[in-house]
Amino acid sequence: MLQLLSTYFLLMSLNFDETSLKYRSTTRDQPVENNRILAQNREKNEKFNQLKQELEKAGFEVILALPPKRGAYGLLQVTTKKIWINPVVFNLHIALPTIIHESVHASQVCAGKGEITALGLTLEPINQARPFFQRYRDIHRKDLEREAYTVQTQPNSFELALSLLREKCQLNN
Ligand SMILES: [Zn+2]
Repeated sequence: MLQLLSTYFLLMSLNFDETSLKYRSTTRDQPVENNRILAQNREKNEKFNQLKQELEKAGFEVILALPPKRGAYGLLQVTTKKIWINPVVFNLHIALPTIIHESVHASQVCAGKGEITALGLTLEPINQARPFFQRYRDIHRKDLEREAYTVQTQPNSFELALSLLREKCQLNN
């Protein structure tokens, strides 16, 4: 699950890093062109929809509505294979990382054949992501969240989430 506020701050800082990397070669005072922002938004929307479709192919129901747990951006219910995406994430421009995070949990459900289980990823989480899963007391839960936050914060998070989903849920593409 993505928690309110805390995730917002994490994503804000990540966006900042990404931006500074991407535009390092250009001068800082140059205004960012609208076209570039629009193109980036379009690309993110396409990726969101693609991941949503793959989740549906894997038998998950993706619901764009307030999750039953207060304060959550995204939520997966293992027993019903329902995934809620809080519509506020579109306003906050974090819809893509939110669905990526939940798709990692979906892969964990597929891997556990109905019971959620860690994938055993060897990827290292980035340092900024650590506080978000280390606050979980339950060791199993912590493992699950570590993987979701680790994938979510990789530079190739979308591709990674998609390939994990296809592999673990045995989708033919
Ligand atoms: Zn989670």
